[in-house]
Amino acid sequence: MPTIAQAYVASSPTSGLEPGTVERRDPGDYDVRISIKYTGICHSDIHAARGEWSGVRYPLVVGHEIAGVVEAVGRRVTRHLVGDRVGVGCFVDSCRECANCRAGEEQYCLQGSTSTYNSFGRDGLPTAGGYSTSIVVDEKYVLNIPDGISLQDAAPLMCAGITMYSPLRHWRAGPGKRVAIIGMGGLGHIGVKIAAAMGAEVTVLSQSLKKREDALRLGAQQYYATSEPETFKYLEGQLDLVINTVSADIDVDAYLSLLSLGGTMVLVGLPSKPLSQRAWSLIGMRRNLSGSKMGGIRQTQEMLEFCAANGLGAEVEVIRAGQINEAFERVLASDVRYRFVVDAGTL
Ligand code: NAP
Ligand code: ZN
Ligand code: ZN
Repeated sequence: MPTIAQAYVASSPTSGLEPGTVERRDPGDYDVRISIKYTGICHSDIHAARGEWSGVRYPLVVGHEIAGVVEAVGRRVTRHLVGDRVGVGCFVDSCRECANCRAGEEQYCLQGSTSTYNSFGRDGLPTAGGYSTSIVVDEKYVLNIPDGISLQDAAPLMCAGITMYSPLRHWRAGPGKRVAIIGMGGLGHIGVKIAAAMGAEVTVLSQSLKKREDALRLGAQQYYATSEPETFKYLEGQLDLVINTVSADIDVDAYLSLLSLGGTMVLVGLPSKPLSQRAWSLIGMRRNLSGSKMGGIRQTQEMLEFCAANGLGAEVEVIRAGQINEAFERVLASDVRYRFVVDAGTL
């Protein structure tokens, strides 16, 4: 018998989220059923629920920063036991055979990984995300949450954490690397913590000075307001790696000018309009412009161990389900310190 889970559901781009239900399959041989305890509110959930991306299907249950406890396992499951503290991120399956899956980069699966919501699973059913009380996922796509991190602080690591950890590792953030993070929201604040723990020299570039104290407390050495034109003059050529987490349109040339010879700017934020930039901004200092999408399962587990070893988790504000729509507005207004997490017990 499939399980009926309580959920918060978007029925159209303009409906907001309302209480409803979602059906979860019985755990198959390799499946794990998770009792969800907390789900982070990622900005991507808002983009999706409001139909800002093409191909959104309704009714839609969003949420891909899931932390919970295993409540049932299929008969061939070996990786997880009932009672384990576990997490699920942005995807719940992938082809497992392509070169990228074999390399542990399932987020770049050549067949397209199966997103935690707004996708179709191998069972042919639409996937539904973590704004719900339970979820059934193949054991290979379920992460172990180390004891050192509370479930509420761990939930945002499943998307925001790995989305920052992966480029920081790829571009070798560490001692002697000058790393800047644009935007101190859900992704940005975790990026500051992780980059600082890796030993990099961290600069935050925020719209205003409001988050300065917090940024320094989380490990940043420098903090500048992007609203001040002097910021761009002062930092010209001073950074090795700049990661953009902002989803609003940004002046790419201005940020590229902050990079030293051969420096790299990585886009993780998803602006709605196409970006443009001058060739000279790259050519003049052999600079690189790149992008990065979440991280693979192996690296996500590595990130969780790294965070536990360094005593890191997200800075969260736990909310009840009835506050989700209001929380969406507050995220859009950049009024969150620094991730809303829904207490699934209130769904
Ligand atoms: P968020 O919590 O809203 O943070 C974004 C931050 O951008 C804000 O806190 C704000 O920080 C800054 N910002 C600058 N200009 C802004 C403006 N005009 N309006 C609002 N904020 C502005 O969002 P998030 O959850 O971190 O997600 C950020 C972006 O990354 C989204 O587009 C999301 O879809 C995307 N994302 C991408 C991936 C990936 O794999 N690449 C994964 C997850 C999310 P300041 O106040 O400090 O300026
Ligand atoms: Zn996300
Ligand atoms: Zn694949």
